Parts: sequence; C-alpha cells; structure tokens
Amino acid sequence: MSAAAVGRYAPSPSGRMHLGNLCCCLLAWLSAKSKGGRVVLRIEDLDAQRCPRSFADLLESDLAWLGLSADEGGSRGGPAGPYYQSERSEIYLRYYQILARRGLVYPCFCSRSQLHAADAPHRADGQVVYAGTCRGLSPGEIAARRKTRAPAWRVRVPDEEIAFTDGHMGLYRENLARDCGDFYLRRADGVFAYQLAVVVDDALMGVTEVVRGADLLSSTPRQLWLYRELGLPAPQFFHMPLLLAPDGRRLSKRDGDESLEHLQQRYTPEQIIGRLAYVCGLQKAPDPRTPAELADRFAWELVPQTDIVLPEGLF
Ligand code: GLU
Repeated sequence: MSAAAVGRYAPSPSGRMHLGNLCCCLLAWLSAKSKGGRVVLRIEDLDAQRCPRSFADLLESDLAWLGLSADEGGSRGGPAGPYYQSERSEIYLRYYQILARRGLVYPCFCSRSQLHAADAPHRADGQVVYAGTCRGLSPGEIAARRKTRAPAWRVRVPDEEIAFTDGHMGLYRENLARDCGDFYLRRADGVFAYQLAVVVDDALMGVTEVVRGADLLSSTPRQLWLYRELGLPAPQFFHMPLLLAPDGRRLSKRDGDESLEHLQQRYTPEQIIGRLAYVCGLQKAPDPRTPAELADRFAWELVPQTDIVLPEGLF
C-alpha cells in the first residue's frame, strides 16, 4: 500500500459552492498535494432531495475551472466507488449492524420539540446533548410506541473522554456521555446519519487526512470513537478556520455575493485562488496564483487558527 497522503473533498451539494467551501477544497488539495498525495471527491448527498445530481455535477465543473479537480471519485469513479453517499446505504447498513449486534443501537421516539425543550442540556456549539430519554425503554414499551411512530436510531456512547491532536487546531477533548450524548446513526425514514457515513466512507476510501471546517471539530471525538468501535483506521484531522463575510456573518449558499456563480463573472480562477491564499496566510499579497504554484509553499503553520473575516472589497 502506498504511504502517500490521500485527502478528500466531501461537499454536500445543496447549492453552488461559496468561498468557504472553495477555501476548504483549496486547503485539502494543498495539504495532500504538498505531500505528493492525491484527492478523492465524495458527494455527501445523504439528503438526496436537497442535493440533486445537477448540483454535484456543477460542483465538479467548478472544481475543474479552479484547477482543483479530484484524482478519484465523483462522476469519475474509482476503486472505492460509488462516491455518492445516496448510493452507499447497503455499505452503511453493514457497519450499522456491527454496532446493533453489540447492543449499542436503540430506537428513539423523541419528537423535535421534546429534544429542543428549554431545559435540554446544550453544548458550547449550541447543539442539544441528548438526555437519554429513550435509552432504557423495555421491549414492551418499544413495541407499543412503534405502533404510532417510526423511531430514529441512536448509538449508546460510553462515559469516556476522547482526546486527539488536530493537525491544525491542536489538542481537543470531549467526554462523549457528558458533551455529546447518544447520537443518531439512522433517521426514522431509514437514511443513515452523516456521523456514521463519513467514518465508513473515509476509511473505505483510504483517506489519510481530513481537511474540513472548524464547525466539525466537535464531531470528531464521536467519529474517532466510531472508528475504534468499527475497527476502521482513522485519518489525521485538520480543521480550518471558518471564513466570514466582511460584516462577520457566516457565508451561506443562499447568499449570492460569495457564491461561485457571481465570482466567476468577475474573476479568473487564479485571482480567486490567489485571494483565498492571501487570506489563509499563504502569500503576503492577493496576487493571482494557480493551486500548483501554492503547493510548494504550503504549510499548515501559515494558516490562522481563528475565524478569517474577509477584508472589505477583496471579493
Ligand atoms: N459534507 C459536509 C459539508 O459539506 C462536510 C463533512 C466533512 O468534511 O466531514 O459540510
């Protein structure tokens, strides 16, 4: 097996890419290529309604336009395909069953409003920590409730601290029971949850390094725990700072300004890449660059650890 780095893009194409998504692809590409590695494209379209294939195709042509095409995956395919999560449910089921057979999975009948009750414990990132309401239901109670409501499925997490060293953000730790709680593996409609799919996919696709936004840092301990429980090799993680609009708001696919559709009308690919490299600390001025030109000088130490606010007028 080759020791070369395998990075990945794992976009959820629910709209056109914005600068934050682009920046993540750029850093993933640079991080892998600067080590002589390659990049896999996996389309995270578990929510197939929100992520039609047309958006995934557009995303691939946007990546090509920018000079950031993946080496494997997406419509190009490859040895670990399919690369669309919507086509991988049978694979997720196999891993889900490993956990279910060990008695770690249980049905949860809680409604949205129950979960978001005012007194529900919240994490620092605003997510609700599941209180374990359905953890101890008896078989009889489960059978009775299933008559009126299809359950979602959660995995039972241990009272254990998971610590890891992020390649960019440093040490991060979390107690699974206290800070995360039992989390979803499968929705009531049968669709598998992101947390399970991402672990299975990155492992089976041979990914050795995951570059993604800092908003997913807090998902990493539970994912590392799943890697361990499923006997899968975990990649190294690099969480990048979030890119914010000049007024401090989070970039969104719904806002036109920073979406690729608008950027393409105003800038060349090299101008976009050069400006992103500038805000990421990879060059001192926003000069046009190709990704290949930046690979030589790429080092994670140059990239800020805190949120990056885009300077007014840069884009
Ligand atoms: N699909 C997720 C997103 O587009 C990224 C998940 C990940 O990188 O682990 O936000």
